This record gives sequence, structure tokens and C-alpha cells, in this order.
Amino acid sequence: MDKATPKTSDVFAANRDRVAPLLAKLKQEGIGHLIDGKVVPSISGQTFETKSPVDGAVLAQVARGGPEDIDRAATAAALAFKSWRNMPAAMRKKLLHRVADAIEDRADDIAVLECIDTGQAHRFMAKAAIRAAENFRFFADRCTEARDGFNTPSDEHWNVSTRVPIGPVGVITPWNTPFMLSTWKIAPALAAGCTVVHKPAEWSPVTADLLAKLAKQAGVPDGVLNTVHGIGEEAGKALTEHPAIKAIGFVGESSTGSAIMAQGAPTLKRVHFELGGKNPVIVFDDADLDRALDAVVFMIYSLNGERCTSSSRLLIQQGIADKFVEKLTARVKALKVGHPLDPATEIGPLIHERHLAKVCSYFDIARQDGAVIAVGGAPHDGPGGGHYIQPTLVTGANARMRVAQEEVFGPFLTVIPFRDENDAIEIANGVDYGLTGYVWTGDMGRALRVADALEAGMIWLNSENVRHLPTPFGGMKSSGIGRDGGDYSFDFYMETKHVSLARGTHKIQKLGI
Ligand code: NAD
Repeated sequence: MDKATPKTSDVFAANRDRVAPLLAKLKQEGIGHLIDGKVVPSISGQTFETKSPVDGAVLAQVARGGPEDIDRAATAAALAFKSWRNMPAAMRKKLLHRVADAIEDRADDIAVLECIDTGQAHRFMAKAAIRAAENFRFFADRCTEARDGFNTPSDEHWNVSTRVPIGPVGVITPWNTPFMLSTWKIAPALAAGCTVVHKPAEWSPVTADLLAKLAKQAGVPDGVLNTVHGIGEEAGKALTEHPAIKAIGFVGESSTGSAIMAQGAPTLKRVHFELGGKNPVIVFDDADLDRALDAVVFMIYSLNGERCTSSSRLLIQQGIADKFVEKLTARVKALKVGHPLDPATEIGPLIHERHLAKVCSYFDIARQDGAVIAVGGAPHDGPGGGHYIQPTLVTGANARMRVAQEEVFGPFLTVIPFRDENDAIEIANGVDYGLTGYVWTGDMGRALRVADALEAGMIWLNSENVRHLPTPFGGMKSSGIGRDGGDYSFDFYMETKHVSLARGTHKIQKLGI
């Protein structure tokens, strides 16, 4: 081993040492809401426990928000909106860069806390914290152009469009990579000039609390970013119903998206939904099979498979299926399941015992439908005794089986062979979801034809999922409504306004003469 590379056991020990005092502080202080710049308990005094998926240890008592706490936060956000929207864009830009600096300064702490709170492996969480800072920088730099519009002159008018922030918005986020994901929503909302009430997932409240505190510490004015913790059907529901909240940016399950649409209907909420997926990776026989294999393994077994863009269906061309699956089997068997703070770990424990039970239920579902569990298919006895699971590979499946149709959201891959291009497209599109698609082929013409035919919001050709922030991120069908990224985010968080200036020459009909 290179002398400069620390031993994995040393890094593991250093990660443990780093997280221990943070956890002690968390346990002692608990987690309150951050409303109008102040840490406050719920008005009802109610709390809930958040536990680590590693060993079930109680990490903190968390304030359990209800409609009255949401009302307090929405009122603070509405008041702060008046000055935040009018703050010069250059000043807003400076503040958001300061939030990015603060995230970078604490990136190592965020990473280890995220590991303990969610079970995600440190190798991925270390990067997630840095990406969160990048999200803030990207949108900070665009503050100054958020209001830009067009001039579309007609014969007798100058027609000018501009954009204005829509108002206080609600952001509701899930528990998978929660810190990074919430910055995707919060950074563009703040850059647009909106104020925010954030309701993080109840299974991962720890780093959301830190984000709100870092923003305050960076100088974001009180009331601009408020965090209310709580249960989805309580605090989340109240946020979607609150009349002062003009839009809801939501990431989570498709069924929750439907509920939010109904809840927001009486107040005509604008909604942006990033929902579930059952994404295909299609491997043709003329592909670079070594690179395709790396991508297939990475895109379902990284992040515990708890990833909306994971390629959870492998569509493999019949002629190469046996050989490819043989190599895949060896790779899946060799995946390292372990403690999330261990840098050698590739798969950590799943977020919650209820989620573990859901993922495990698909072992029987696969067998009942007649598929074969080629690797895995059982819980795993990991360090701390938490919600570990064996990475699982299902073969012998067809496109109609539940394991080929439903989002499992774990390290669980279903292999489906296909005959030719048309067959691959039909299978790929034969699900309710339409978030991403991945295509591996040496024939660029075919890659483009398949990309055109796939019903998915994002398609990668000969590539794993590589996020580029200006590009549109979002899904079709049951995978979502709307797009994030670059100017697409501003379109959601802002109202486009049309202003028409007459040159004084157009004819005005004279009535009532
Ligand atoms: P979830 O829908 O159960 O919860 C997400 C959030 O919604 C949580 O904060 C929850 O408290 C809240 N919520 C629940 N019921 C609510 C209600 N009635 N009103 C308002 N808020 C409510 O999702 P999850 O289990 O936390 O996350 C996993 C899901 O998220 C998966 O389906 C995954 O595919 C999806 N996801 C999608 C993307 C994407 O970009 N498309 C990204 C990440 C995760």
C-alpha cells in the first residue's frame, strides 16, 4: 500500500472518533424546529425518537411538529419574504456562497452524521456533503440572472417578460441522501428570492437540523429558511394545506405525491414532484461489456440501492445474457456489506426496520412469481446488528412480475432478457414509472433511437448517472411532474410576468361615444 494512503482501519477509527462527540451533543440537546431564527420545541410539547439503523440506538428526541408549528413557520416565512425578495441579488449571492462555505467547513461532520442517521456508506456520504455545497454555489452564482426575461416586440408594443419569486414555499424531502437532496430544492428557492419552510423526513432529521443552523450561522436572515420536523401526515400535510405557502417542492414516493396534490388543491398549490422509479439499464450485445458491468453494479448497489435513479431492472440481450449474468453474480457476491463508517463498506444497513421488512418481502414475492434468487435473498448479520441486508440479484424474471414492476428501493436487481431493440423498448416502457433509462451499445444510431423511444425524463447513453446541474432533472409518468436544475428550478420557484409598453400608436376602440 502507498505510504500516503491511510489504512482503512485508521480511517474507520477516525470516523468513529469524529462522530462520537457529535452524537453525544445531539442526544443531550435533542432536535427542535428552527423557526424565525430560533430553535423551538413543538407548541404541543410532543417529540419523537430518531434511531440509528446501525444498532437501533436512540440518537435524539425530535420535536414533533403539528399544524400550529407549521403556521408559526409559514407566518415567519411570509414576513421574511418581504425583505428577502427585495434584497439586491448580489447580496443574496454572497450569503448563499457563505452557506456553501459553512457546509464545506463541516463536510466531514455532515458525512459521519449522515452515515449514522441513514446507514449510507461513508464512501458515498463524504461526496454527498461536498455536492450539497456545490448546489449552493451553483445557484448562488445564478441569483443575479434569476429575474431575467425576454423582449418580444410587436409592431406597436415592447413586450417584456420578467420573473418574480412566487412567495414562501414548502420543501418536503425524503430520507435517502437527505442532506444533499434537500439542498437541491432549498438552494434554488432561496436564490430565486423565495423563503422556505422545510419539512425533512422523520427517519432522517439529523442533518436537516444542521443545514438550517449552518444557514443561520452564515448570515441568512431569520425567517428565510425555517425547518419544522415531524410526521408526513401531520406536519407535512399541514404545510401542503397552508394558505401562505405558494408552492410545494416534493421528493418522495409517488403515492405521497398524489396525496399532496389532493391536499394542496383547495389552496391551488403549485407542485413540483420528484417521485419513484423502476429504471431500466439496457445492455445490447455490441456494448463495451466491461464498462457496462461496472455501471450496472454501481447504479443499483451504491447508496444501498435507496436511490430514485437506481437502475433496478437489467434488460440484457439474450445472446450475451448467460455470460454477463455470470460475471455480475460474482461481483454481487463480492460486495462488502458493513458498518457505514468503515471506508471499505459498499453497502450499509437500510434506513429503518419498516423499510428492511418491505425490501425483504420482495424475496418471497420473487419466488412466488417464479423468479430465481441468484444471490442474496436474506437479511445480513452486520456490525451493530442493524438493518443489514444481503445484496440481492434476481434472475429468471419476466417483465410482468412484481419484481420487474414495483420499486423495491434496496440493493435488489432484477434481470430480464430481451430479444432485440423493439423488445427492449417495450419492456423498458412497460412500467408505471419513467424517471431514468441507461443504454449500453456500440451503435450510436441505435442509442439515439432507443433514447428517443424511452418514456423517461433522463437518459444516459454509455454512461452511469452523472449529474450536471444546468440540465433538467425529473421524471415522466408516475415518476414526477416538473424539472429541477439550472433555469428549470427558477421557473418553478418564480412567476413569469409579462409587461407590455405601448409606443402610443395602436388604435384604441372608442366605445360609449
Ligand atoms: P415518502 O413519500 O414516504 O416521504 C417523503 C416525505 O414526504 C417525508 O418528509 C414525509 O414525511 C413526507 N410525507 C409523507 N406523507 C405526507 C403527506 N400526506 N403530506 C405531506 N408530506 C408527507 O418517501 P420516502 O420513503 O421518504 O422516500 C423514498 C421515495 O422517494 C422513493 O419512492 C424514491 O424513489 C423517492 N425519491 C425520488 C427522487 C427523485 O428525484 N425522483 C429522489 C429521491 C427519492
